[in-house]
Amino acid sequence: MKQLTILSGKGGTGKTTITASFAVLAKKAVVADCDVDAPDLHMLLHPKIVKTQNFKGSKLANIDQEKCVKCGLCREKCRFDAITDDFKINAFSCEGCNVCVIVCPVNALTLKERNSGYAYISKTKYGSMAHAMLNPSEANSGKLVTLVRQNAKNLAEKENSDLIVIDGPPGIGCPVIASVTGVDAGLIVTEPTMSGIHDLERALQLLTHFNVHPFVCINMYDINKDNTEKIEGFCKEKGVEVVGKISFNPIVTEAMVNGKPVVEYAPKSDAAEEIRNTWKSILLAIKTLNPRI
Ligand code: SF4
Ligand code: SF4
Repeated sequence: MKQLTILSGKGGTGKTTITASFAVLAKKAVVADCDVDAPDLHMLLHPKIVKTQNFKGSKLANIDQEKCVKCGLCREKCRFDAITDDFKINAFSCEGCNVCVIVCPVNALTLKERNSGYAYISKTKYGSMAHAMLNPSEANSGKLVTLVRQNAKNLAEKENSDLIVIDGPPGIGCPVIASVTGVDAGLIVTEPTMSGIHDLERALQLLTHFNVHPFVCINMYDINKDNTEKIEGFCKEKGVEVVGKISFNPIVTEAMVNGKPVVEYAPKSDAAEEIRNTWKSILLAIKTLNPRI
């Protein structure tokens, strides 16, 4: 089984648009949306949820009011101002750090697991999908990404699928690391802008660090051909294959507005053709890589 993560150094490069079209083209692949903070792949793939799991990624302090002697020690020591004047816990501020539990002289405080979000297993018309939604103000997105990936792997094994296509979160933080760890290949979707080039460099460093084979796709390559040449030159210098170049095309936005992957919405468009060619190249390239799982 091979795993491919689509990533970009930042949001707005067209990563999800491309991943949705890959989900259509891949046929028997399992798709995982690992952007658990702000998922959007569902808007194009329209999954029907078949299983929901509670994600308990953090803890919340709880005060037993009958035991509490109102000494104020917990309030004094809480670095997150999560305990109110009348000794109630503010669930939005509590980080579950356990300090209050340690300092309470009468053992009135305990930590309890709290629901931090939901993981879903779904069916789409293109195949199975694992995805999730982290609750607002929760911070453990890396752990939830790991759960989504485990669900995707279980689905792929059950369905005898030989490919998992992962839509990674934007940026290069903890959830992105959880999205690329242990995968076979990473496709960095970039755009020919100065910030795009900078983000490409950061994403490439991340993949190199985690020993993930990198590929690059330049989206909207024709909006600045000089910068596209710079990206191609940079990739050549680093020995990274540019597997696709996709031109700017308003039909891509139109497809999104209509909630469809562009290869399905406008299969005869240049954009669809370029995405299909990119898919063929990446598929061919990852087949030659040694499987990691
Ligand atoms: S667990 Fe930590 S953050 Fe939460 S109330 Fe106690 S000291 Fe404050
Ligand atoms: S430290 Fe314990 S006893 Fe003191 S106010 Fe907090 S909960 Fe109550």
